[in-house]
Amino acid sequence: MFYDAHNHLQAPCYDGLHNELLENCAGLERMVVNGCLELDWPKVAALAETHPQVLPSFGYHPWFIHLRTPDWQKVLEGFLDQYPSAVGEIGIDRWKSDISYEGQEEVFLEQLAIATERNLPVSIHCLKAWGRLLELLRENPGPKRGFLLHSYGGSAEMIPAFTKLGAYYSFPGYFLRRSKGRHREAFKDVPTDRLLIETDAPDMQLPDELNEHPLADKEGKPVNHPANIGVVYRELAKFLEEPQEELAKRVEENFVRYFEEL
Ligand SMILES: [Zn+2]
Repeated sequence: MFYDAHNHLQAPCYDGLHNELLENCAGLERMVVNGCLELDWPKVAALAETHPQVLPSFGYHPWFIHLRTPDWQKVLEGFLDQYPSAVGEIGIDRWKSDISYEGQEEVFLEQLAIATERNLPVSIHCLKAWGRLLELLRENPGPKRGFLLHSYGGSAEMIPAFTKLGAYYSFPGYFLRRSKGRHREAFKDVPTDRLLIETDAPDMQLPDELNEHPLADKEGKPVNHPANIGVVYRELAKFLEEPQEELAKRVEENFVRYFEEL
């Protein structure tokens, strides 16, 4: 059974395709569907109502915080009152050059505080800001159950420090690319009880030769299919030299402990 710790099933490229997409996700037990801005949140909620696999998650992604309305926190808390399941995707990003860093930490910390107060799982995005993220997580309390560093791309050396603070780490299919050797290697240092697996679909494409579910948006641009979760399990098991059933069992335990236990 597969658990996708992070995707974006609400993405516009999937509009009208949800039934078909999920029918193709053989073996998929649950997926955490992350809203990235206010406009996403009703879509994420609707998907949770219609598809039992969907575990809804609500948050403001750093790329979109310039779109937040004056009431965004109230709106977010309203969704979490109705769906007390998860906060995300939130985070900080110093990689994407066309967005401002200003305001990112403030919006991130406000959402971290909301997750902490409710002890909800939280999914964190971080690019080129790992040292700063560690500082922020040391200085500010996080949820008792810990936090998820999705598509963890920090160094192996930082893993013990994040782990001490309660980190889980999810491995995306994108890291199966040849160029991502350092990212893959770091996952050998992730404690066995903190590992999760994700597609980040429709983003973070697998290498073409491993993509078993090719899909394109309306403009013909390739997008990741959530059914690729099975490929990510298989290839990560090979890389970690662990039987896939054993890997699947501990990822299930980790997922249930982190995302589903109260
Ligand atoms: Zn994401």
